[in-house]
Amino acid sequence: MHSESYLLETGGDKLYSAALLSTGKVITMASPDRYDVAIIGAGAAGLMCAITAGQRGRKVVVLDQGKRPGRKILLSGGGRCNFTNMYTSAENYLSENTHFAKSALARYTQWDFQALVDKYNIPWHEKTLGQLFCDNSSQDILNLLLDECQESGVEIRSRSTITGVEQTPEESFAVMTDGGWVEAESVVLATGGLSFPTMGVSDLGYQIARQFGHDVTGTRPALVPLTLAPELLSHYQPLSGVSAEVIASCNGQSFRENLLFTHKGFSGPAILQISSYWQPGQKISINWLPDINTQEWLEQQREERQRVTLATLLAEHVSRRLAKVLTEQILAEQADKPIAQWRKGVLERVAEQLANDQILPAGDEGYKKAEVTLGGVCTRQLSSKTMESRLQKGLYFIGEVVDVTGHLGGFNFQWAWASGYSAGMYA
Ligand SMILES: Cc1cc2nc3c(=O)[nH]c(=O)nc-3n(C[C@H](O)[C@H](O)[C@H](O)COP(=O)(O)OP(=O)(O)OC[C@H]3O[C@@H](n4cnc5c(N)ncnc54)[C@H](O)[C@@H]3O)c2cc1C
Repeated sequence: MHSESYLLETGGDKLYSAALLSTGKVITMASPDRYDVAIIGAGAAGLMCAITAGQRGRKVVVLDQGKRPGRKILLSGGGRCNFTNMYTSAENYLSENTHFAKSALARYTQWDFQALVDKYNIPWHEKTLGQLFCDNSSQDILNLLLDECQESGVEIRSRSTITGVEQTPEESFAVMTDGGWVEAESVVLATGGLSFPTMGVSDLGYQIARQFGHDVTGTRPALVPLTLAPELLSHYQPLSGVSAEVIASCNGQSFRENLLFTHKGFSGPAILQISSYWQPGQKISINWLPDINTQEWLEQQREERQRVTLATLLAEHVSRRLAKVLTEQILAEQADKPIAQWRKGVLERVAEQLANDQILPAGDEGYKKAEVTLGGVCTRQLSSKTMESRLQKGLYFIGEVVDVTGHLGGFNFQWAWASGYSAGMYA
């Protein structure tokens, strides 16, 4: 094939290289660094991919715009990194194609990552529901990844913002950075999502995907607190900081975890989880008494304790403050009436509302407070085995930039490790 990359001699003996890109643009710089694999993004997925490719003997560079790699890892899990989940399966992920994640998750499992953590003697514990956290700090996980990178000969370049990726006529890629360009045989986009913009996010991954003909699904904040309109908020705001175990449901999904009242609405694991399934304008259902058949319970109480009020009854199962607010919310001016004096139909209505309270959120707190981005690079045009583009040889997408979004509980990191490993085996 006729090569359109060439060397220029410009006075003296200094060599410059130039390449005519697919777009017709000619780029020049002092001999570009050449790599087998250039990974854009030094987050969980990018670092895992780098380690895996480096271990295969590939010459790897990881480029990241941040001052240092793995910033979201440090922030994660309240500083203790919920690095995986013992019960990981494809059911813990949202995607247009719910089967897509299966292959990578089977290739690199939660047990594989746990073994790596154990190799470094990092102390960890299961917090709840299979969620594995560091005993000490997220820094332990980042140190592990950086040590593995070093051992595999991976080069990490921080403060390197990528502005574009283009194909060279030699079927390699030119990765344009704010400080020149590097050439690589394979390029892996591990640029993450749009959540937590203070961490320095960008939509480069989506842009590059579109540039090479990929579809990108609509994206929106997920694992995000929900807000309430002023009237409803005025009832719940006094509970700000209180949490209660509930079942939150929406669109056929239910999560039994804690709900946390905030000064803007609802948060806590149950709400973060259901936020990924909720669509603006829809109601969510809250079961405030998940262990109780509310109808039978109220009927029995009416028989046995005729003078008892709802607030007193509820306070036997939830905090006194929540009992008071729920009572006022459900019974309004009848809140002080003993159960035996409730008019016909009230008991049924109270039972229904306690078990299936229909709440209309006003919105969510946006990317600023979202743990992840729902949607992303469409899985249809990616190989589930290798994460390689089906449209452009040598181009890979991994981690959160792909339309695979995990539940809360270590699943997003497990996807980052698994997809990073899968691409690293082939890139
Ligand atoms: C507060 C918080 C807590 C979380 N806690 C957990 C948890 O405990 N467990 C869990 O499983 N998940 C958790 N998550 C989600 C998890 O952090 C992400 O899903 C995961 O980090 C995604 O990894 P990634 O490598 O795909 O992307 P990221 O970690 O986001 O990395 C992407 C990298 O690409 C770089 N980049 C982007 N654009 C460019 C560009 N143009 N040029 C150069 N570099 C670029 C960014 O600087 C960044 O370093 C949490 C998220 C947040 C926000």
